[in-house]
Amino acid sequence: MFRYLIYPTFFTGASTVFFLLISLDINSLISSLTSILALGSVVYFLEKLLPYDPNWNRNIGDLSADILHNLVNFLLIYLSFTSLKFFRSIIPLPSVWPENLPYFLQVLLAGLYVDFGMYWVHRLSHSFPFLWKLHSVHHSSERLYWLNGEKRHPIHAILEGSPGILLVLLLGASSEIVLGWLTILSLHLMFQHGNMDYKAGILKKFFSVAELHRWHHRKKYRETQVNYGAVFSFWDRMFGSLQKEEGFVTGAAVGLEREKSFPKDYLGQLTEPFR
Ligand SMILES: [Zn+2]
Repeated sequence: MFRYLIYPTFFTGASTVFFLLISLDINSLISSLTSILALGSVVYFLEKLLPYDPNWNRNIGDLSADILHNLVNFLLIYLSFTSLKFFRSIIPLPSVWPENLPYFLQVLLAGLYVDFGMYWVHRLSHSFPFLWKLHSVHHSSERLYWLNGEKRHPIHAILEGSPGILLVLLLGASSEIVLGWLTILSLHLMFQHGNMDYKAGILKKFFSVAELHRWHHRKKYRETQVNYGAVFSFWDRMFGSLQKEEGFVTGAAVGLEREKSFPKDYLGQLTEPFR
């Protein structure tokens, strides 16, 4: 029962903390960072308490680079928010965005657009060689744990988020709405990659949880062409890329199928796609 309660309890709990802080008029950046750090601490503890694969809790020389990826990508999110806020204030746009809806509903609506864009950029990144090189940084992990969610080449992170974010901004959404969704996304990515043996049950129909996403990280390139969804799994069902069979076994290899090993250091990982 505990395994089934983990995901709904802590994902909803951390999201509620974020929305609660926003409703109390706490600065958006502080609200975002607080909910992310709170959930990060819980997930870190749960990975020790209930690991999916105990071997994935061991540092295999990847920890420092993963921490740097997280710091850089969170900085990128917060810098984008600040610059979008600035541009939004100097460029007046006609708005068709339903700004009278409650904040959390606007965030959810923006999330549908952003997640749809991310699904397609992600899927195309498994077909076009240069996009795949950039995306390989994310797939280079040889274990899955909570820090993998934000382990991305910053250029690829920008490419994945941009189509949906630009669209919702053009429709008239505020940068606070975009930051709200990017916060929910970051919270979810911890569960999607987390090394916790939790079960999502029926929620798998809607959310791209670890049980689905582990398939996507298998070592054989051919076998990674499934379960592209970032937060929602229904895109995969709609567009025929869902792998929902039970059967990813503990101990199965994840990572990249290549002869030369992938650099372990942060700068090496940033420059590898251009070699
Ligand atoms: Zn991928």
